Amino acid sequence: MTTSVLVLGAGMVGTCTALHLALRGHRVTLVDRKGPGQETSYGNAGIIQREAVQPYAFPREPDVLAKMLLGQGAALHYHWGALPALAPRLLRYWCNSHPERHAAATRHYARLIEHALSEHEPLIRAAGAEDLVRQVGYRVVYRDARALQQGADEARAVAQAYGLRHAVLDAQALAQAEPALRMPLAGAVHWLDPWVVSDPGELVQRYAQALERAGGVIAQGDATTLRATARGWAVRTQAGEVDAEHAVVALGPWSETLTRRFGYRLPLFVKRGYHRHYRGGEGPRIPLLDEAGGYVLAPMRRGVRLTTGAEFAFVDAPPTPVQVDRAYAQARRLFDLPEPVEAQPWMGARPCTVDMLPVIGPAPRHARLWFNFGHAHQGFTLGPVSGRLMAELIEGGPTVVDPAPYAPTRFG
Ligand SMILES: Cc1cc2nc3c(=O)[nH]c(=O)nc-3n(C[C@H](O)[C@H](O)[C@H](O)COP(=O)(O)OP(=O)(O)OC[C@H]3O[C@@H](n4cnc5c(N)ncnc54)[C@H](O)[C@@H]3O)c2cc1C
Repeated sequence: MTTSVLVLGAGMVGTCTALHLALRGHRVTLVDRKGPGQETSYGNAGIIQREAVQPYAFPREPDVLAKMLLGQGAALHYHWGALPALAPRLLRYWCNSHPERHAAATRHYARLIEHALSEHEPLIRAAGAEDLVRQVGYRVVYRDARALQQGADEARAVAQAYGLRHAVLDAQALAQAEPALRMPLAGAVHWLDPWVVSDPGELVQRYAQALERAGGVIAQGDATTLRATARGWAVRTQAGEVDAEHAVVALGPWSETLTRRFGYRLPLFVKRGYHRHYRGGEGPRIPLLDEAGGYVLAPMRRGVRLTTGAEFAFVDAPPTPVQVDRAYAQARRLFDLPEPVEAQPWMGARPCTVDMLPVIGPAPRHARLWFNFGHAHQGFTLGPVSGRLMAELIEGGPTVVDPAPYAPTRFG
């Protein structure tokens, strides 16, 4: 039986949710205050991370923690003023990153990631977006032999446990694979399964166009105007109030602004991140994660996109892009990247949960209200499978994976 659904938030997660619902014949309105794919899903590193079976843990190694506390490096930055408010959630995140708990989270995370490519693939075809995607994987590069050995050992263990493909490159093989490298590195781990996207925001927009072709409607509006009605839910848009039987909250890093209004205190936080494009010289041929530097360089349509690690701050606090400068100082030693494209770096925020798993399922105390957010470091990867899971939950039929580990009720 068909139903009607308001999907709030047109990032990768909301757009894929709406597309799955529309392809199943439901009446869907996708609502965003901007257009589709203009926030976090626009500015990421564009890697569909099939290899990311382990969610991103809070570092526990003493040397990394010391570096963090001193505020050094490009991988991490924080706003001192935000720390007292964020501390309880970061502490829970830290506790859940204990190896045993992290292993448990990995089991559930891997079950979603397993479907990353197989769920993107039909949507890419439906959206005619093959021109944006290359099936070339990405490389993690290491500067010294010990770090390479450790990275290669870890990669081998993960690859064997989860059936992933990878190759280890020594210094010479890496220099051949990336001829624009300006200095010798110890080598790299090449993850061969991931796909890379030359314009992540454009991929979301193509999925949104596929949604419209499937009969879905895209509306501009403020999700915080959501209210319960006799029939279900209604939200104000520029085209007037739109109502439907179901509503899905997919507001990524802003999800809490709405869920709080309905009385839910979910343990969410954000890790902000920045990017800037560079052109004029020659960068890597495929995306490259500089493990020691804590940044990614990805060749994209606008130039080589440099993306940074995590910044702990309030989601809408003014930008403090110090990590971009630190990362650029390191990146330009590796590649000739002379000209920044944008006057100022772009800023986004990874929507995180304290247990490193996304929140996908029914709102505990409101009928026909659904949550789909908290995809942290891999929301671009997980949008399609999360969207499918959400559509299947709304239909009440069998689901692509067991939804229990992602249920909002797990937070009590
Ligand atoms: C630097 C960086 C690099 C990353 N690299 C990768 C990567 O390589 N691979 C990967 O898988 N993931 C990556 N990620 C993570 C990924 O980008 C996110 O997990 C993902 O984009 C989250 O998608 P989303 O749809 O949940 O949120 P968003 O894309 O942020 O979408 C939320 C939407 O809600 C809308 N919205 C907010 N408030 C309102 C309101 N009141 N009313 C109406 N609309 C509203 C916004 O306009 C926005 O469109 C990276 C993130 C960063 C920051």
